[in-house]
Amino acid sequence: MSRPGSPPRGAAPAAAVASEAGAAAATPGGATHFGFETVPEAAKAGRVAGVFDSVASRYDLMNDLMSLGLHRVWKAATVAHAAVRPGMKVLDVAGGTADLARRFAQRVGPTGEVWLTDINGPMLSIGRDRLLDDGQTQPVVRCDAERLPFPDAYFDRCVVAFGLRNMTRKEAALAEMSRVLRPGGRLLVLEFSHVRKPLEALYDAYSFRLLPWMGKRVAGDADSYRYLAESIRMHPDQAALAAMMQGIGLAGVRWFDMSAGVVALHEGVKV
Ligand code: SAM
Repeated sequence: MSRPGSPPRGAAPAAAVASEAGAAAATPGGATHFGFETVPEAAKAGRVAGVFDSVASRYDLMNDLMSLGLHRVWKAATVAHAAVRPGMKVLDVAGGTADLARRFAQRVGPTGEVWLTDINGPMLSIGRDRLLDDGQTQPVVRCDAERLPFPDAYFDRCVVAFGLRNMTRKEAALAEMSRVLRPGGRLLVLEFSHVRKPLEALYDAYSFRLLPWMGKRVAGDADSYRYLAESIRMHPDQAALAAMMQGIGLAGVRWFDMSAGVVALHEGVKV
């Protein structure tokens, strides 16, 4: 991990910056982005579901190949940073195949709870099976991050890893995650972000050429991995995401770049 960040000093008030970030991501007439494509808001979730239905069975293998195993390091750093203790209640949003939920389950012990949630059935059923293989009987719930079926102020930690980028209304989803956190609870967002300038050309070549090629060979699906590369470029950069988190009322927002900004871990505290 390197370079802790924070919103630039002397910038516009958080709410103003957040709405600018939202405006940059939004398009007129209830439209949004699916990768580089502009699609009606109502269509995005279906398109995203198509991606994860298609890649679910090869998702974990592709993660290892695409990142050369680095995703394990990013996730381990996230779990360490979350400082989850026995007895805590943890929500894994868009938790997919349960990489994070499994690690948190070991930490909360028998008195804690880890809720694995995702909107996608095939991803979630792999996640549930992996938890059961570990001997963990944690709750698993299929739900949309933009409408979480949990009471206010229930969780000590809420974590979303590589999920926010796929959501249609990111601010609404972040606000939901904040709602279910208890005061003092922490939201952690692990997501692909904007790589440092000198690496951009190399990263573009990797993402737009090698990734779809690998996706076709390993998962039989080049388009889903082209979407991955495009959705990363359309996702708010580190400062814009921090501003969005401040805009929904989280305090102490900061971020940590990992692997030169290929991913960033953002953190905010529920007031
Ligand atoms: N968190 C897991 C990990 O780090 O390996 C899975 C990440 S995977 C790239 C993204 C996940 O986000 C998919 O499982 C997808 O179904 C889920 N997702 C997308 N939109 C969602 C939404 N609106 N609500 C909940 N989950 C969503």
